[in-house]
Amino acid sequence: MPNHLNILDTPIEYVKGIGPSRGETFRKELNIHTVRNLLYTFPFRYIDRTKFHLIKDVKAEGDNIQLKGTLVSIEKIKGKTNRSRITGIFKDSSGFLELVWFQGVTWLEKSLKEGEEYIIYGKVNVFNGNKSMVHPEMELVSESAIHLTSTFDPVYSSTEKMDAKGLDSKTRRKIINSLLVTIEEKDVPETLPPYILEKLKIGSAYNTLQWIHFPSNEREKELAVNRIKFEEFFFVQVRLLLSKIYRQYKYRSAPFATIGHYFNTFYNHKLPFELTSAQKKVIKEIRADMGKPVQMNRLLQGDVGSGKTIVALLSMLIALDNGFQSCLMAPTEILAQQHFESISGLLQGMDIGIAFLSGSVKGKKRAAILQDLKEGKVNIIIGTHALIEEHVVFKHLGFAVVDEQHRFGVAQRASLWKKNDALAPHILVMTATPIPRTLAMTLYGDLDVSVIDELPPGRKEIKTIHKYETARPQLIQFLHSEIAKGRQIYIVYPLIEESEKLDLKNLNDGYERLLQYFPQPDFQISVVHGRMKAADKDWEMQRFIKKTTQIMVATTVIEVGVNVPNASVMVIENTERFGLSQLHQLRGRVGRGADQSYCILMTDYKISKEGRERIHTMVRTNNGFEIAEVDLKLRGPGDIQGTQQSGLLDFKLLNIGTDRAIMDTARNFALHIIEDDPKLEKPRHENIRQEVARLKHQYKDWARIS
Ligand code: ADP
Ligand code: MG
Repeated sequence: MPNHLNILDTPIEYVKGIGPSRGETFRKELNIHTVRNLLYTFPFRYIDRTKFHLIKDVKAEGDNIQLKGTLVSIEKIKGKTNRSRITGIFKDSSGFLELVWFQGVTWLEKSLKEGEEYIIYGKVNVFNGNKSMVHPEMELVSESAIHLTSTFDPVYSSTEKMDAKGLDSKTRRKIINSLLVTIEEKDVPETLPPYILEKLKIGSAYNTLQWIHFPSNEREKELAVNRIKFEEFFFVQVRLLLSKIYRQYKYRSAPFATIGHYFNTFYNHKLPFELTSAQKKVIKEIRADMGKPVQMNRLLQGDVGSGKTIVALLSMLIALDNGFQSCLMAPTEILAQQHFESISGLLQGMDIGIAFLSGSVKGKKRAAILQDLKEGKVNIIIGTHALIEEHVVFKHLGFAVVDEQHRFGVAQRASLWKKNDALAPHILVMTATPIPRTLAMTLYGDLDVSVIDELPPGRKEIKTIHKYETARPQLIQFLHSEIAKGRQIYIVYPLIEESEKLDLKNLNDGYERLLQYFPQPDFQISVVHGRMKAADKDWEMQRFIKKTTQIMVATTVIEVGVNVPNASVMVIENTERFGLSQLHQLRGRVGRGADQSYCILMTDYKISKEGRERIHTMVRTNNGFEIAEVDLKLRGPGDIQGTQQSGLLDFKLLNIGTDRAIMDTARNFALHIIEDDPKLEKPRHENIRQEVARLKHQYKDWARIS
């Protein structure tokens, strides 16, 4: 090994037992380039050498379990369609188990040894009383222990190609073990200040690295895991807070000192209702922020229907009072259109230039709007992401509202700042539905947060009911009685892309069936789905808004924003196929008027455990913040819409669904440190400063992210 390098920076091929060819495989398969990459790719589980199950006690459909016994025999079976598989007979002191592999057949045939003792790991299936395990992980007992005394052996994720190169978990274990034996305390620089280690009672960076691979007991494992999770989140927070400070230093904004004619006229004469105290509180926070010469970057969270729009509007009027333009950017055309209509309505008679811009505004009309915007004749512009396109030029944009829906990336948000040459516009980001605290800390950790935690008064709690297919006749009867009272109804079908054709058929069948129960001309039904032309969609939507139709049959396109206060029933078909936050959004389409509203969740009898929990949660609570927490726990962070590309959620061990306590601690430490020492100049923060510098170098795109 070249000795001028820190051992951790050594290229992977120089490691004993690896070499150029296997090094290449590490690089290609797992993106592991250096010793550091190798050592900081952690085991995904451990073999607890003290815990083995017995075949006779195993029940079907349980968790993964570990068994110890003999591989009696193996056999390669040629499949009809040319695909072969391997089956094996495994036995322990209590019984027999069949093993089956469909993949990696060639490699397995070579490497599995009949008659040898193995530790195996996987899920047991029971069929007709026969027990089997598909694709078990296999481990020769003779090779499994690195230290004869070890209780836990690490298991690393592998790929077929890695296995074929002999780089399975066992080999990795050996390589890593011999590396860790040579590595000394000085080779693993401490990244956290001693006072944090002491306060949190966690081990040094060096110990943690040893323990995470080869813990000698449960406690060491836990200590290592906790420190790694803490550190992962701590440095994300430090980075977000540093970029916030950097932004405040780099971007000046105009201080909006005046509360003048526009705000006061609207507030005193035009406000259609009394603001809730939560809305007042939030407007105060925004006013205070915008009054300063530093850029406001604020996140506004509030449940569906909590009244975020009026907050955005009042804030835009403050900008106008100070001589600046505002924009409001929404994630979809429909939502942008609705914002435009309701805001135009509210501002009627106030002599304010207000315009709408989206991809569908074209030709002369578009040119005129762009011209007016440039000349400052447009004071408020509302639209889709068309607003951030380069040729959209403002005279002096002072304030930008982003209605986010988790769909705009941070990069897009940033492109709004550049719309004003001299001064950065103040920014207000609104989330369409509440997001869990841990997710907010991660994705919006560089923003200040306002929360509307109260719904406008007089709203009746929406009644949510779960019904099976057999209750359809009663459902139809109920819908008839609601329509007789003059109410309107949504009926929503799932539309998931892969099965789009089938989903459309479901919707059409449902529509045909409805026509029998609600015949024309007494009843009129709108249909809206994603495959329709925008103009047709709009026309159908308008018919419903104008009460020409009583029923709106739709796919999830209506999820966002649609506001028809007279609609009092939301029927959701195949509810089990919707995600929780989607269901909550849909439910939020009703309960907007004074009438008692209902949300009826239709399902088949067969529902998965998770689907059942989603439905129970919907029936149990109307609180969007609570629903968001359950959603995160059920789905895990990986699935949260629109967040994958952000790179902010790539944690190795941290789980933002379950590690809230660790995340809170890390955030608090980061906040204190950055507040106390924004440039990380103090000697006690030297470790942090160096690690931040190293990470910055490692992830060159950090700057782009925030
Ligand atoms: P969201 O926060 O989901 O965007 P909106 O801003 O669309 O909610 O508001 C939902 C509905 O509640 C709108 O019809 C709006 O006019 C009404 N609303 C907002 N604030 C109040 C209030 N303080 N009192 C009564 N109605 C309100
Ligand atoms: Mg809204």
